[in-house]
Amino acid sequence: MQAEVAIVGSGLVGAAIAHQLGRRGLDVLVLEAGGARGRRAGEHLRNLDLDPARFLESRASCLEPIVPRGGQDPKLGLPAAARVRAIGGAGTVWSGIAPRLPSVQRGALLAESEWASLYDRAERLLGVAPPAWTDDATALARTLEPVGAFRPAPLAATANASGWIWRSPARLLFDESAGLRVVPEHSVVRLQHADGRVRSAIVKPDGDGPAVHAEAGVWILAAGPIGTPQLLAASAAGDEATRGRWLTEHVLAHAIVESVAPLRRAAPGPFLERMPAEDGAYALLWRDACDPRLLAGADPARTVHLFWYGSMEPRWENRILFGPSEDASGSPVPRFEVRRTREDEDAATRLLEDLRRAAPLVGRPLRGAPPQLLPPGSAQHILGTTRMAAAAREGVVDPDGRAWGFENLYLAGTGVIGGSTSVPPTLTAVALALHTADVVAARLGRGAAADAIPG
Ligand SMILES: Cc1cc2nc3c(=O)[nH]c(=O)nc-3n(C[C@H](O)[C@H](O)[C@H](O)COP(=O)(O)OP(=O)(O)OC[C@H]3O[C@@H](n4cnc5c(N)ncnc54)[C@H](O)[C@@H]3O)c2cc1C
Repeated sequence: MQAEVAIVGSGLVGAAIAHQLGRRGLDVLVLEAGGARGRRAGEHLRNLDLDPARFLESRASCLEPIVPRGGQDPKLGLPAAARVRAIGGAGTVWSGIAPRLPSVQRGALLAESEWASLYDRAERLLGVAPPAWTDDATALARTLEPVGAFRPAPLAATANASGWIWRSPARLLFDESAGLRVVPEHSVVRLQHADGRVRSAIVKPDGDGPAVHAEAGVWILAAGPIGTPQLLAASAAGDEATRGRWLTEHVLAHAIVESVAPLRRAAPGPFLERMPAEDGAYALLWRDACDPRLLAGADPARTVHLFWYGSMEPRWENRILFGPSEDASGSPVPRFEVRRTREDEDAATRLLEDLRRAAPLVGRPLRGAPPQLLPPGSAQHILGTTRMAAAAREGVVDPDGRAWGFENLYLAGTGVIGGSTSVPPTLTAVALALHTADVVAARLGRGAAADAIPG
């Protein structure tokens, strides 16, 4: 296998970069460990199965634990953290909430004007609809005024008569005008590199087939916040003193309430968000199905999920590390070392108290889903493991996304987001990935091209 650019991972981030480079006429190969889920490869499963309860079941079946059973010190782990191995990655099941980070949480590595333009492009690429006020949203926002200013949340989905069409990696990966070559069920197990240059990669097909070599002038790893440092570790690439470090995740508090007021718009769908002030919580009200056992007589048409996301301070000690044992595909097995400080614990307590104040304003918390902190990892937002930094000793990639110490290796995804934030991270990861795509296109002589947005 040969290409000008090889991208590892076909999730939202890999798909976005691949699409932008393919549209500029580059020969792009996308290597993906997983296969197709559902009838259409890379499609959001909500678009394939519109019944909300059935979708929740199929989503649960896609989420694979990151650390194998028994491989983790329970005091240091993120037991609920999971990943999706599929064409389209977690983009086949994500909720599509796509806010921008407030400027205080963006860091100083890019100019504000550049952030604004990257966010505009990322929103167009992911089809983020401008949030619209509905009667339900207006009434609930008014009710919630004692705990802050709520507004409709931006969603990567388009409304139509039967609900929402969720944006997914499929639109980008299989946009004919991008001409991408997507190779499913092929895991990249090792990068072969010398003198700061990746020469080729060993790629293992699912099943018993022999490993093959892939060659490309530029390599971009978009294998998720665990898969990317895992591949670096398997390849002994980069500095062990920085790889997988500064890990943060969003602490998640949750409740389900039966709203006092009747709700007109049917679930699923977003409702309202409250942006964090400084380092505070990102709060989200979301309409969705829930486990029927929790309902206990409540009206399913009135249930509202409250998700309160809190931040963690990035610290060098908190990390994901790999090996020495290997999994079936020959990749080193991960485990977490995440220690919560007193400040982290206090912040989690404040998060829960804030949720406890908000929930009764909306309605009656269901007995089986009172305001509570969910197990670590539940938010599925892992950040920082391949941190972007201005100096090699402080991170894994430079402000263009190029791996420190490498000439032709770039990394993208939520792992590069290195600061403290409580806001859902995917739009930001895609925005940063577009910057990396621009840098790669420019070095290959294909700088200027307008973004083409697939319909
Ligand atoms: C249920 C759920 C809901 C979510 N909702 C939201 C939300 O509303 N808003 C938000 O901002 N975020 C949300 N997220 C998080 C969001 O989905 C992720 O941040 C985003 O999808 C990450 O995209 P990615 O392309 O970086 O990684 P991934 O989607 O993880 O894709 C990485 C891909 O790389 C492949 N891969 C890994 N290793 C290799 C290898 N060695 N060789 C080949 N392929 C490999 C994997 O199989 C995978 O397909 C949610 C996540 C989940 C699970």
